[in-house]
Amino acid sequence: MSVQNVLQTIKENNVEFVDFRFVDLSGKAHHITLPAGEVDEDTFVNGVAFDGSSIPGFRGIEESDMVMMPDTEATYIDPFTSHVTMIVMCNIFTPEGERYERDPRSIAQKAEEYLQTTGIGTAAFFAPESEFFVFDDVRYESGQNTSFYSVDSEEAAWNTGRKEEGGNLGFKIRQKGGYVPVAPADTQQDLRSEICRLLEESGIRVERHHHEVATAGQAEINFRFDSLTKTADNLMKYKYIVHNTARQYGKVATFMPKPLFGDNGSGMHVHQSIFDGDTPLFYEKGGYANLSETALYYIGGILRHAPALIALTNPSSNSFKRLVPGYEAPVNLVFSKGNRSAAVRIPVAAVTPKGCRIEFRTPDSTANPYLAFAAMLLAGLDGIKNKIDPRALGYGPLDKNIYDLSDEEKKEIRSVPASLEEALDALEADCDFLLQGDVFTKEFIDNYLAFKRAEAKSVAIRVHPHEYSLYFDC
Ligand code: GLU
Ligand code: MG
Ligand code: MG
Repeated sequence: MSVQNVLQTIKENNVEFVDFRFVDLSGKAHHITLPAGEVDEDTFVNGVAFDGSSIPGFRGIEESDMVMMPDTEATYIDPFTSHVTMIVMCNIFTPEGERYERDPRSIAQKAEEYLQTTGIGTAAFFAPESEFFVFDDVRYESGQNTSFYSVDSEEAAWNTGRKEEGGNLGFKIRQKGGYVPVAPADTQQDLRSEICRLLEESGIRVERHHHEVATAGQAEINFRFDSLTKTADNLMKYKYIVHNTARQYGKVATFMPKPLFGDNGSGMHVHQSIFDGDTPLFYEKGGYANLSETALYYIGGILRHAPALIALTNPSSNSFKRLVPGYEAPVNLVFSKGNRSAAVRIPVAAVTPKGCRIEFRTPDSTANPYLAFAAMLLAGLDGIKNKIDPRALGYGPLDKNIYDLSDEEKKEIRSVPASLEEALDALEADCDFLLQGDVFTKEFIDNYLAFKRAEAKSVAIRVHPHEYSLYFDC
């Protein structure tokens, strides 16, 4: 859309406010709102100023001025405000007019530009499956946030004997027993359908929704693939709509990877493929799972760089509580067709040449999608450029259930890092693949490592409830 078209849309839709948004290092959205009368062509040329020093991980106080530059291709009407408000995604620039090197959205765009310079293909497509839990609304009792104890998990009610409002109505979903039961066990169909309606209204094509495997309240909604930055924008829109629809229903939605010990966590499997114009590059009939050599090398790049990559695709201390055996989350760095216990799965059912893709199952929704998608593309491209053959390096293919392998067989298989600290060390040791085409800079990586190490430490130094059960009576 041209600037003129955006201004016209503002007029035609009686837009009262325009909401300019950017995304920080952690993948959280921030916004500044202007009355529509204040928005003209100049706004799109000069941008909207904000204080970068107040955003964690951005600039220091001494060079705090930053500018949001609106992207006229990334607008939609906010479905939640009572005043008609248009949301516009922005890139971050310095006051000197340079792309800010820590702006995640600019990094995503640079990754797409880099792909085109490699001559390998013209576009990379991404489709995330971002799972989440819906819990009872946050309750504040004597100043304490008790939401984590008042889970809308009927299992929790069974386990604790908690008295339910309205009486015990049966149809309780057990731990790990939540995969696609109909109502009354599934109490959240209307909520998910409403989320989907709002997603469609906001320009996202929804493919399906369902209850997920964990106990009551785990959900998954799938939307159609798109190019890298567009998909990251769509994921930001998706999370905004999920969070706010749940709020309207008196509930709270969380994308935290492992909110409940002993039950499935929430992943964000990412499907990805590369096209050259209209030609899909990942398909070749006859090979393993009909994968082309290009696809195999892409997988090689992902698996070879996975320990470092995971510092960007699973960037929270909680991420590693999900990446444990037994809960459909991948632990082992192998690829496989169909097998959900492998880090890279090749969906083969009813896949056409154009639909041929790989699914990296490790990521979760604490990832900043702009950084995570860019990093995955760079790992894959590094694999293609350097012909990294995953079969030669012991990354599979492996079509057995990896959880059931003997200890001897398991020894042959590499695992994901065990903690955020380990992943950050791996990133420090293996970051050259991210510097290709100056998509990420060394300065960015160093700042990211310091930022995330401080976060990991802030968790590590806190006393954990389980420590009481282990050590209190020593
Ligand atoms: N919830 C699982 C995970 O943590 C995935 C379940 C599925 O295969 O969709 O990755
Ligand atoms: Mg799922
Ligand atoms: Mg999946």
